[in-house]
Amino acid sequence: MSKRRLAIVGAGLAGAKAAEAAREAGFDGPILLIGNEEEPPYERPPLSKDVLRGDKAAETAYVHPESFYQEHAIELVRDMATRLDTTNHTISLAGGESIAFDAVVLATGAAPRRLAVPGTDLAGVYYLRTLEDSLRLHDAIAAAGRAAVIGAGWIGSEVAASARQMGADVVMIDPSPVPLQRVLGTEIGAVFRDLHADHGVELRLGRGVTELRGSGHVETVVLDDGRVEAADVVVAGIGVIPRTDLADGAGLAVDNGIVTDEHLATAVPGVYAAGDVANAWHPHFGRHLRVEHWANALNQGSTAGRNAAGAEESYTRLPYFFSDQYDLGMEYVGYGDADDTVAVRGHLAAREFIAFWHQDGSVRAAMHVNTWDVVEDLKAIVGTAGRLDPARLADPDIPLAELR
Ligand code: FAD
Ligand code: NAP
Repeated sequence: MSKRRLAIVGAGLAGAKAAEAAREAGFDGPILLIGNEEEPPYERPPLSKDVLRGDKAAETAYVHPESFYQEHAIELVRDMATRLDTTNHTISLAGGESIAFDAVVLATGAAPRRLAVPGTDLAGVYYLRTLEDSLRLHDAIAAAGRAAVIGAGWIGSEVAASARQMGADVVMIDPSPVPLQRVLGTEIGAVFRDLHADHGVELRLGRGVTELRGSGHVETVVLDDGRVEAADVVVAGIGVIPRTDLADGAGLAVDNGIVTDEHLATAVPGVYAAGDVANAWHPHFGRHLRVEHWANALNQGSTAGRNAAGAEESYTRLPYFFSDQYDLGMEYVGYGDADDTVAVRGHLAAREFIAFWHQDGSVRAAMHVNTWDVVEDLKAIVGTAGRLDPARLADPDIPLAELR
């Protein structure tokens, strides 16, 4: 009997981890990792931080050196998958090849949402998703007088910080009243507003962009109040769209990403999804969640790889992510809503605190800023099924371990 074949589409972090975990779990058939980028799989967090600033070489972002894939008999197929046929179990590649599979993991990630205003075709306008984007943007910021960052989400905040650290003037523009409003809400978002202002970023909050102007190269950004901002580099970080084309074409359920159960399995046997593209049922939250962060790609990738290899693991980890901006480091656990009530222990103004997002004491998410070694406590608190007293959450005299 011939051995089973595993195909993984998308050679990002989730795809690489799926391949590695399937092999580790004893899958002994061929594993094909199909990706349309030139580099071996790499991690994206450094692309807005050390690699963008030129503090670390591009190769330090690789998940593994290229030799790892040969050593583990994982074939890196550098091509674009154009069609998934779940009836005949084949994947078509842009190069004309057809790949047969017994199980498949879709780890196609997400792509930047594009600005829809006149002038986006001017030179000097950037998005940030790939290693190549990061290296090009590094050169552009290094040569820039003033950079305009459109969108004060994670990309916007981290790029603004890196650009200031590189010595560029920065103006950051977002329709929301504070950075990161949708995730953190107004009170905690204001901490990031003040952080950037204190580091010299000019903030144009509550403002949209109507046009980019220049002759050949961008020169100005026009805001919706008519104000004109000079900029010789524009970086748009206005969110991402999950790359669901293959799943759409194959008739899989797609609703804000590829819909899976808690095993990361779609309704079609042998077809799994993981990472930014997966909208997976989360048993703790009792709903589907699509999480666009590093740890989710890392851990869902591994679970999907093992399940495609024959395991039946549930994916129950709480969402987790981190960010570094200037001298501020933070970690966030759970899945809060900007409208949740916030309990704070510590000092917002000192940028050293823990925030809890809760509804009547039922804690959905927790985040620390510059308060290290508390993540395991925060996970336990968010994982608590019952309600906690908000006054105790905010009281620094009550050890976190007593709240768990
Ligand atoms: P992706 O990384 O998007 O990888 C998918 C891969 O599949 C891509 O290479 C894509 O080209 C390929 N692909 C797609 N379709 C096809 C196809 N049809 N055929 C072949 N190949 C295909 N998260 C954090 O928690 N902390 C951070 O500090 C942080 N920083 C970030 C900084 C930047 C600049 C960016 C862009 C993201 C950052 N993130 C961070 C988010 C994190 O990197 C993502 O959540 C993670 O990359 C998702 O991994 P993924 O493998 O699911 O998808
Ligand atoms: P994001 O975090 O979703 O933020 C997008 C921001 O752009 C939001 O503030 C959004 O406001 C705003 N926006 C939307 N449309 C706009 C427009 N037309 N003009 C101006 N602003 C607009 O997405 P991102 O910052 O682009 O990041 C891309 C992906 O990378 C995300 O998946 C993110 O999680 C990931 N990433 C993560 C990290 C990290 O975890 N540390 C770091 C970098 C990147 P509204 O919310 O009001 O729409």
